[in-house]
Amino acid sequence: MPHRSLLVFLPIALACRVIAVVLLGHVVAGPVLSAATVSGWELAKIDGRDYVTVDSIKQFYQFTKLTRSGNSIVLENAKVEMHLKIGGKECLMNGVKFVFTHAVASVGDKVYVSRMDLAKLIDPVLRPNYIKNAGDFRTVILDPGHGGKDSGATNALNTEATYNLNLAKRIKSTLAAQGYKVVMTRDNDRFLSLEERVDFANAIRENAIFVCLHFNSGGRDARGIETFTLSPPGVSHYGRSAIAADNHVRAGNEHDSANIALATSVHGSILRRLQNNTFDRGIKHARFSVLSGVRHPAILLEGGFMTHPYEARLLENPKYQDALAKGVVEAISKYRFAVGGRQTVHAPN
Ligand SMILES: [Zn+2]
Repeated sequence: MPHRSLLVFLPIALACRVIAVVLLGHVVAGPVLSAATVSGWELAKIDGRDYVTVDSIKQFYQFTKLTRSGNSIVLENAKVEMHLKIGGKECLMNGVKFVFTHAVASVGDKVYVSRMDLAKLIDPVLRPNYIKNAGDFRTVILDPGHGGKDSGATNALNTEATYNLNLAKRIKSTLAAQGYKVVMTRDNDRFLSLEERVDFANAIRENAIFVCLHFNSGGRDARGIETFTLSPPGVSHYGRSAIAADNHVRAGNEHDSANIALATSVHGSILRRLQNNTFDRGIKHARFSVLSGVRHPAILLEGGFMTHPYEARLLENPKYQDALAKGVVEAISKYRFAVGGRQTVHAPN
């Protein structure tokens, strides 16, 4: 896949565009428009939902080329290559897969992306320097899932709880060496409820990020990595149709943009390190209770399938574990830089 080695975070180059996409929220929140152009954005209501054209996206984000062949759309500039498919929810940006809430639509000769996916996914990925409330941080909270009486997924080789803890320890030692303050919700094999994990994280008052670590289980063919962030209000849990409670704002929604930016950084870094030793299942929105409750930018990483015959053996391989750990560490520094912090941190004097 092209450009996988390129992280989708962009430097300040795009900051010269004065109109922030947040403004788009104001312009389309007015009277119901079937189709209109406001502040240069071509807007439309499709099935009662707000959409923008890919032509507007091309213009605003300074893509130099838009190619359509059949149902496939490609937007390109020197730094980003974005692939969309009409009728599909998958969006590839520099080879990293994102799963939209709403399918890409077409009406006449125009192609549309939902405003929700633009504001909550594309924009924070392309312009992390615009993210509010990300804050500078040097504290990282690692949350190895399961433990104690709850072993998580198991296979003939090991338990998920053990993998989660081992991965957290690997990440911690490298981050600490770089000057980060690293805290873990558990550092041994003990049970913690989901509420206890949330309370632990929220008791940390300084700016921090929260990384929840899991390994997956599924059918025999299921494999690869996936990264979850909390569904923004109005966005359903991955794989489930919308319910009324999806409109409730959760504590974690304070950081919707930072969440997706952190997920992008982590997911992209790990894909790059694992190359052909993994499969990209994408970055997805979900309503896991830890992500809902934690008041710091938060993600949940599923680092591979314990139920896949080949991947199960990979998970036992120290090189695979090391690639995951290094991917997370590298991603945290890149994210920190992208949202305006310094690229490196130093231990306090
Ligand atoms: Zn798990």
